[in-house]
Amino acid sequence: MNYVTDVKTLFFPKYCSSCNRNLMHFESAICMHCLSHLPRLHVHDEKDNAVEKIFWGRVELNAATAFLQMPRNGIAHRLVHRLKYHNDQEVGERLGVLFGHELMSSERMKNIDVIVPVPLHPKKLHLRGYNQCDCIAKGIGETLGVEVSQNNLTRTHFSASQTRKGRISRWSNVKDIFWVREPERLEGKHIFIVDDVITTGSTIEACASALNKIKGVKLSVGALAIPSS
Ligand SMILES: [Zn+2]
Repeated sequence: MNYVTDVKTLFFPKYCSSCNRNLMHFESAICMHCLSHLPRLHVHDEKDNAVEKIFWGRVELNAATAFLQMPRNGIAHRLVHRLKYHNDQEVGERLGVLFGHELMSSERMKNIDVIVPVPLHPKKLHLRGYNQCDCIAKGIGETLGVEVSQNNLTRTHFSASQTRKGRISRWSNVKDIFWVREPERLEGKHIFIVDDVITTGSTIEACASALNKIKGVKLSVGALAIPSS
């Protein structure tokens, strides 16, 4: 540790986003202890894994995976909560970096050309001030040395009347809320769609349907976490 880092940690202490312990100068966002207890899924190269099963018969994907499993009140749950509701963008990037390191050694994911974070609903983006999927995508992109395409896939506004409709009619609307501004920029590429948490999969399905219309694309999906009981 050098003097400058030493002084910085003294005056601007940083805390673990999971357990709130003081971070050492070499730790970033998550302490070593919590890091070693991350509930990693390790399913990137597993065909028909739990994430892929969500999309069976719904949309054509090359592969789908998730970094963590997220039981209620566990480490992953706390971290995702910090990322989404406490402006902890740093933990999103850190988790993205860790996810990226795993993807580097994945057979199915190693030739990703571009990363596309799921766009946030414009109203939510306005309220939150940032898109948590952008943070995760940034960490993955930096680690893999792959471009993150942030504004090409676009999400349109919901009208208030649409949110009051029933589940089925709402789904038919969800399908059409994503569109691609400049499809030619993504032609022929292996696109990695990044989401924070995949539950029903309908958002990803809608994104993938929009992206699958582009000539020659191959789509893979990666969630930071999937819920587990
Ligand atoms: Zn910790």
